[in-house]
Amino acid sequence: MADDCLFCRIIRREIPSPLIYEAPDCVAFRDINPQAPTHALVVPKRHIASLNEAGDANLLGQLLLAAAQIAKQEGIAESGYRTVINTNAHAGQAVFHIHVHVIGGREMHWPPG
Ligand code: AMP
Ligand code: ZN
Repeated sequence: MADDCLFCRIIRREIPSPLIYEAPDCVAFRDINPQAPTHALVVPKRHIASLNEAGDANLLGQLLLAAAQIAKQEGIAESGYRTVINTNAHAGQAVFHIHVHVIGGREMHWPPG
């Protein structure tokens, strides 16, 4: 846990953000600035700054399986959705607590901007 990390503070319930999913090692909540009708963030309870610092294959797998579960519960599993992990400056990472974006509910384009 990092004292001043935004997502650690959400996990500690210091900042209100209703959880839409909770498992022993991760949670998910809605993005405050959604980029699509569904936009959730899957976040490990343990503070890991980015994918560059993530060495736990089991935990990373759990985050992806949680993303698929959330897509099902949001009703976008069949229509399709995008899972995104931004890492560092060129990807636009703004919060340095690893998270998987789950984005769907509309058609998306490729390549991303
Ligand atoms: P990234 O650019 O991949 O680091 O994504 C960080 C995401 O966190 C952005 O999509 C923000 O809109 C989102 N965000 C920032 N503050 C909050 C918050 N308090 N609750 C939920 N999402 C947030
Ligand atoms: Zn954190």
